[in-house]
Amino acid sequence: MRKATKSKQATEWLMRVQTLHQPRSFFRCYTRYMKKIIVGIFAHPDDEAFGPAGALLQEARNGAELHLITLTAGDAGTNPDNVPDLGAVRLQEWKAAGGLLGAKSMEFFGYKDGQLNNNSMIEIGHRIIRHVQEILAEAPADTTVEFMSLDLNGYTGHIDHIVAARAASYALYTLKKTDARLSRIRFACLPEKLVPAANVDWIYMEAGHAPEEIDEIVDARHLRDDIIQVMECHRSQRGDYEFNLRQQGDDLGLNYFKIGD
Ligand SMILES: [Zn+2]
Repeated sequence: MRKATKSKQATEWLMRVQTLHQPRSFFRCYTRYMKKIIVGIFAHPDDEAFGPAGALLQEARNGAELHLITLTAGDAGTNPDNVPDLGAVRLQEWKAAGGLLGAKSMEFFGYKDGQLNNNSMIEIGHRIIRHVQEILAEAPADTTVEFMSLDLNGYTGHIDHIVAARAASYALYTLKKTDARLSRIRFACLPEKLVPAANVDWIYMEAGHAPEEIDEIVDARHLRDDIIQVMECHRSQRGDYEFNLRQQGDDLGLNYFKIGD
């Protein structure tokens, strides 16, 4: 919270200084050529759709270039239609959802759902670094690169989400040492309003975060219909889709983040 407030104040101050002291033509040029890249790093094909879809849609529509990574094909998900190859079906669903989100690239890392661990976390960290370096090969020096993942606590407690968030953090902080284009990672998290208490409905899931633990809230509620379309792509996970829709109600599109920078 402290860090986010400070950097927000700094950004506002900088914007004010630029607006007050730069000629209008300079400011127009400056904003036109700034490039923003968002790399979404998630464990399962539906993580972005049922998590920070609103923020991702909003970023893409504001001109950010979006790249998505899924570590697994979600082959351990629910299979209500008893399809023989759930992973293949879920990757197709993911491609459709990524298309609606406006993703420029989508990369499947090929791991098994539910089986990520310390060893794969280290390997994944290095693979993210290489992948981001390829994305950045042609990017200008004033590009800003942000990562997005789910909460370091696993969001729902899922071990794959924890590995994705920690591998993404490893890649970000490693790349930041030598490349000033890398800026921060946003971890989509749940507020206590939605998850008031810890539960063991499936695995252990922590209670949602108190307001003072949340660094940023993105309000993309006006994109509700588009978010629903993205969620509906994940037909094989319709139980989770319906649960999320019920849980979030009118607040669908309100995304909460913790920030690492
Ligand atoms: Zn997941």
